[in-house]
Amino acid sequence: MSDRRPTTTTGAAPNEVPTRVVDALHAAARAAESVRPARRDGESVVEAAEDPSHEGATSAVAANGATAAGRVARAGDGAPSRHVTAPTRDAVAAVLVAAGADVRRDEPLARHTSFRIGGPADLFVAAATVSELQAALRAARAHGYPVFFLGGGSNLLVSDRGVRGLVLKLGKPFDFVEWEPDDTGASLRIGAAVPFKRMVAEAVAAGLAGLEFGEGIPGTIGGGILMNAGAFGGEIGRVVTVLEAVDESGEHIELPRERLGFAYRRLTLPTRALITAVRVRLERGDAAALAASVADAKARRDRHQPKGRPNAGSIFKNPPGTFAGRLLEEAGLKGARLGEAMFSERHANFIVNLGHARAVDVKGLIDLATRAVRRLRAIELEPEVRLVGEW
Ligand SMILES: Cc1cc2nc3c(=O)[nH]c(=O)nc-3n(C[C@H](O)[C@H](O)[C@H](O)COP(=O)(O)OP(=O)(O)OC[C@H]3O[C@@H](n4cnc5c(N)ncnc54)[C@H](O)[C@@H]3O)c2cc1C
Repeated sequence: MSDRRPTTTTGAAPNEVPTRVVDALHAAARAAESVRPARRDGESVVEAAEDPSHEGATSAVAANGATAAGRVARAGDGAPSRHVTAPTRDAVAAVLVAAGADVRRDEPLARHTSFRIGGPADLFVAAATVSELQAALRAARAHGYPVFFLGGGSNLLVSDRGVRGLVLKLGKPFDFVEWEPDDTGASLRIGAAVPFKRMVAEAVAAGLAGLEFGEGIPGTIGGGILMNAGAFGGEIGRVVTVLEAVDESGEHIELPRERLGFAYRRLTLPTRALITAVRVRLERGDAAALAASVADAKARRDRHQPKGRPNAGSIFKNPPGTFAGRLLEEAGLKGARLGEAMFSERHANFIVNLGHARAVDVKGLIDLATRAVRRLRAIELEPEVRLVGEW
């Protein structure tokens, strides 16, 4: 174990944090330090997350070991696993290069997450065409190679060891909006790579209601749909009419609303698929009321959320009837720190990266908080942030 010790709130004396929190932080730090070093390519395995309810990634998605229940994919824990060998990586990379894709090896995922945390992806591709996307999915499937779908990376905690397999992102051709206005509003077809914030701004500017709750939500439309992103009583799932996606075999599919299971910060798809576009219906609204809603949402975020430190939004979902932030505050966790990760002093349900936080630091705080709230209130917190990669 190193001599790193969890510290307390910046500027606070150590004894200002309740003893139980300090004890738990030490235990978490020990657990974090005991994590084995990363294995070299060719030796690693990832859990095949064969959860049929999984929303968003193709098979063997280490990431979604994360899932709503906060399960973490671990290598070599006896679960069904796939070997992610160097020859397999080379074979998949070769197909992608032949398809014209810009394939990167060992791409640091910290560059692609709002937390600025995350180790390397064995392979990384931002698909610049639909055929590249299809080639990637088909090659991965043919070789049993895991694929993780990356949006804007604003709801992810990627492990320090990174992701074994292919991380697939949508490039430029998936950043488009088609408008079909009519007498009462408009039907829109929105590419999955469109930034959520931009879409909100464009809809409000066009006088259309239904997305204004989303002021300040980062990430992409694709990630937003998969997470059923929402705030201040609104959520994106309510306006969706059809999803367009590519399934694991690379085929284009269309999923009407009746086949989509939107729930609180969750979407269950009937099949594993990468969302490529969404069709939504927005009604005409009162321009002044829309502008006021947006201004109100912005003011509330400015008042309550941390600014200027990398984070991934809310760490836990709100349990029924209460707020995760309130429970964390009651447990004395506001300002509690592990390494360079800290529960925000502004809003306890945010963990901020103070500079060089590691994923194990953040994970240590998540585990600590889960135990603390369980002990204090017998409530089981469920992570909203998704844990991704090899832990
Ligand atoms: C400062 C801040 C504030 C936030 N506020 C809110 C808020 O108010 N409300 C809220 O709901 N969230 C909030 N978030 C969390 C986050 O922004 C949302 O969950 C967002 O919708 C995630 O989108 P993304 O593109 O970044 O997805 P990612 O984080 O990249 O991915 C999230 C999940 O979606 C999957 N996915 C991504 N793209 C696709 C695709 N095209 N097809 C299939 N699966 C895909 C991924 O595999 C992963 O499982 C906040 C985050 C931050 C940093």
